[in-house]
Amino acid sequence: MSKINVGILAIQGDVTENFLATMASMSELGIDGSVTQVKTVEQISKLDGLIIPGGESTMIGQMSLVNGALKTIKEKIESGMPVFGICAGMIFLSKNSKDRVVGETKQPLLDILDVKIERNSFGRQKDSFEAQISMDPIGISSFNGVFIRAPSISETGSDVEILAKFNEKIVAVKQGNVIATAFHPELTRDISLHKSFVKLVDNQS
Ligand code: GLN
Repeated sequence: MSKINVGILAIQGDVTENFLATMASMSELGIDGSVTQVKTVEQISKLDGLIIPGGESTMIGQMSLVNGALKTIKEKIESGMPVFGICAGMIFLSKNSKDRVVGETKQPLLDILDVKIERNSFGRQKDSFEAQISMDPIGISSFNGVFIRAPSISETGSDVEILAKFNEKIVAVKQGNVIATAFHPELTRDISLHKSFVKLVDNQS
């Protein structure tokens, strides 16, 4: 089997935590591959899988629009590269996003994940919380979800599988080669979600 190359989009957000969780996943799974922090079109074009970390989606969107990464990421995902979007990464992947308070922000989006996002759906930074989440469709029955100014999904298209809800709000989804969570798995010691993403990348390569 070929050596896989998983990238962590390193424009803004919690890049290091995702890098470490992905390295640990590969090593636990015994999968041969590398994890690279990426920003440029050239780096992104060499990837077999990409994680878009949490942070600030407007910033990640603007910067990747300016350096051309947005277009390359979109093309790679459309031609089958698996991607895992976390919080801001989930927002960036979406086709439609509005802020709960300020509404339309016209931020650059990848326009791939067929969902409507409500940004800051659970309140402000001070309203951050942790909650037990189950993602039964991918075999993860209990996961500690860390929600930090988290979005939720208010509507899903027909190709979108709902993986988890919290308080009636959709907080994790899968659409083909795209996985997205409103919470931050890289901020816990549990690497089961990163492992399931690495397996997806390995199976596609
Ligand atoms: N609220 C942030 C945004 O809109 C996301 C927060 C996060 O990634 N923790 O980009």
